[in-house]
Amino acid sequence: MKDRAQVVIVGGGIIGCSVAYHLTRLGWRDIVLLEQGGVSGGTTWHAAGLVGQLRSSSNLTQLIRYSAELYSQLEAETGQATGWKRCGSLSVARTAERMIQLKRNASLARSYGIEAEVISPSEAGALCPVMRTDDLAGAVWIPSDGKVNPADVTQALARGARAGGAMLCEKVKVTGVRIERGAVAGVDTSEGPIATDILVNCAGMWARELGRLSGVTVPVHACEHMYMVTNPLPGMSSDHPVMRDTDGHIYFKEEVGGLLMGGFDPWAKPWGMEGIPEGFSFATLPEDWDKFEILMTNAMQRVPALETAPVRMLMNGPESFTPDNYFILGEAPEVRRYYVAAGFCSGGIAAAGGAGRALAQWIVDDRAPMDLWQADIRRFAPFHADPKFLRDRASEVVGVHYYIAFPNREFESGRGIRKSPLHERLEVKGACFGAKMGWERANWFAPAGVEPRTVYSFGRQNWFPYVAAEHRAAREAVAVFDQTSFAKLLLEGDDAEAVLQHLCANDVAVPPGRMIYTGMLNDRGGYESDLTVTRLRDDAYFIVSASAQVTRDASWIRRHVPAGARVTLTDVTAAYAVLGVMGPRARALLGRLTDANLNNDAFPFATSREIRVGPALVRASRMTYVGELGWELYVPAESAPAVYDALWAVGQDLGLADAGYYAIDSLRMEKAYRAWGRELTTDDTPLEAGLGFAVRWDKPIPFLGREALLAQRQQLLTKRLLSFVLDDPTALPLGDEPIWCARERVGSVTSAAFGHTLGCAIAMGYVRRPAGVDAAFVAGAPFEIEIAGDRFAARGSLRAPYDPDALRVRA
Ligand SMILES: Cc1cc2nc3c(=O)[nH]c(=O)nc-3n(C[C@H](O)[C@H](O)[C@H](O)COP(=O)(O)OP(=O)(O)OC[C@H]3O[C@@H](n4cnc5c(N)ncnc54)[C@H](O)[C@@H]3O)c2cc1C
Repeated sequence: MKDRAQVVIVGGGIIGCSVAYHLTRLGWRDIVLLEQGGVSGGTTWHAAGLVGQLRSSSNLTQLIRYSAELYSQLEAETGQATGWKRCGSLSVARTAERMIQLKRNASLARSYGIEAEVISPSEAGALCPVMRTDDLAGAVWIPSDGKVNPADVTQALARGARAGGAMLCEKVKVTGVRIERGAVAGVDTSEGPIATDILVNCAGMWARELGRLSGVTVPVHACEHMYMVTNPLPGMSSDHPVMRDTDGHIYFKEEVGGLLMGGFDPWAKPWGMEGIPEGFSFATLPEDWDKFEILMTNAMQRVPALETAPVRMLMNGPESFTPDNYFILGEAPEVRRYYVAAGFCSGGIAAAGGAGRALAQWIVDDRAPMDLWQADIRRFAPFHADPKFLRDRASEVVGVHYYIAFPNREFESGRGIRKSPLHERLEVKGACFGAKMGWERANWFAPAGVEPRTVYSFGRQNWFPYVAAEHRAAREAVAVFDQTSFAKLLLEGDDAEAVLQHLCANDVAVPPGRMIYTGMLNDRGGYESDLTVTRLRDDAYFIVSASAQVTRDASWIRRHVPAGARVTLTDVTAAYAVLGVMGPRARALLGRLTDANLNNDAFPFATSREIRVGPALVRASRMTYVGELGWELYVPAESAPAVYDALWAVGQDLGLADAGYYAIDSLRMEKAYRAWGRELTTDDTPLEAGLGFAVRWDKPIPFLGREALLAQRQQLLTKRLLSFVLDDPTALPLGDEPIWCARERVGSVTSAAFGHTLGCAIAMGYVRRPAGVDAAFVAGAPFEIEIAGDRFAARGSLRAPYDPDALRVRA
């Protein structure tokens, strides 16, 4: 074995082998892959081998489309069979609501370039004759989906990697990781140390433990996952499509002339709580027919032949799951050049090709190749790796695979981990909470006598009228929003201004007390974050961004602090509660609790000051995400309840209302305020997003991404963010729907909500057009938004749909 390598990959499952293969394809040779057992002996060898391409975002879907393409060619390239078969997949619906979901999926698939057809139960029966269809509402057929033999694909990738120069070592266990000055320096193994600058943790369900050795958070937890295989059945051939009956939690696939049937039961059994036994390779778990019963019962309903079919085996194998059902990819925020690809949530065979290629590119270029935020490791914080949280959540996540993906669906497990100081008060007021980054946040408030529980559906959900009232309070009177979960970072030191001038596209060299809305961009001009930066002192800035961004923003800033710069960065998220006091009567309300002059001249927009509000000294920042007069009050956590009580003690006659995050969404959509992760991603620039006003081209310190933006500024903009107003009252877009213009698909919806001031649905989305997207084109374009297969007329605009200042309501 070598004692030095450019890259060390830990884990010889399908993911590790794919990363090794793709690194060699990119021209890297000096790669060592270490596998403690045998190649594919972890979870990979016993996978069912389904390759379904559709995922919840375009980029994740593209990764799997590439996997399918790769698997179809690997045998020719390496001489190793993969078992790839383009057999197509069928998803059936037992209920009307499931059918809506399938139709939405079909729309989504088509918008991502995957052929998908909505078909009748009898057409489904013709494709899958063993299936009972008289109880079905319909189905969707995706002809380009397929299946593989997972162990064979892994061997093919391993063979390709070896041919490209990589060294694969079996029966070598990594026992430690050497870190020097915050970066990878080497690994210790059962066969001795290897010096390396780049480590890739592809250790499957072992990835959390391996991460822990270096303080890297990899929140994965194993759960038992089962399928059974029958003896050969009449009428089965290898061309038989994969079939999913998600209402019954089950899937089917042909296997050596018989049927393989597995599934995702609503609450799975976590496994490996006391650690994974030493030497667990090519191993399985004991059969558990009791646990399998729910799947078996449903399977017999769908395929009656199973009632008598002889069962050849019941496979029970562990697979690792993450807290949100997305896999984990990218460079760990804690250690430089420490990469992770793990937690594939029962989709690792399908994802391996694309995820392996994306991570290899990430390693070679030292940056993500595209927006992969859903899978990005920086979406987590240390609490996500807490064993109890993970165990509970993993068990639920397994079932989520086949839940109906209703909008606003919240996890039930792992709740109550982080609470605002106002939590109990809001609970008493009827808050219905959701969770973001572990924080419990009020989504909406139930009036007296109404249970604060969201009833899920694809139509207007039960909170609709209550959110309408919250919305109106913010537009017409005053509302208080608990926004404590905002990510809050403090950057202090003599070089704070210089560091931020380089990182921020806007000019932060402003006097203390000024607030700046800005993006942090990558070298392609895409958004790494959008945030507000408040200058507190000459040498201190207060940085606020969305709740989910805290790990990512802190990591991005730390990575870009030049050596020797005199700054410290502190996460102060939990130190301050945030009360957003918003609405035309916000000034009147706060005026009753403070001596500070709140007039426009004394306290203009985008300024921030410490003022006394009721019993506490708070930082009041004149900013808004709802498009009304208002202040965000940053209140020391211990004083937040008293300030909240003071607001309510004097605010009732002004029409004060509690309001939650659903109201924020409705309000911000009317004003076309962008959200990071939706309208603003690493693939979108400020020019495309219509935020050129927040770019200072001529700062003394040029910002990261300036060159790319300057180049884009010279060209025609062929992609731009638009707002859309849908006049049909039955249209309820949720996000991700295709946008059409004169029979051409021109984009996808990024966010959508019902605008209660305008009284109709509103969406935002990027439109692409080679001839350019400008006001003249937009004004006359016959846009349509496709929702579950139906197209609704949509009026597009480069400006906000609701803009009373410009006297352009519903322009
Ligand atoms: C029953 C079942 C059915 C499934 N069906 C499908 C399917 O149809 N389609 C699909 O896409 N996915 C499916 N999956 C999921 C899929 O199998 C996994 O997502 C995938 O195999 C994960 O691959 P991996 O490389 O991340 O992990 P693994 O295959 O577990 O590889 C990780 C490797 O790391 C090694 N390792 C760990 N620690 C160390 C160390 N310290 N030193 C050296 N080596 C180490 C382990 O020995 C192991 O071999 C299924 C899973 C199960 C359990």
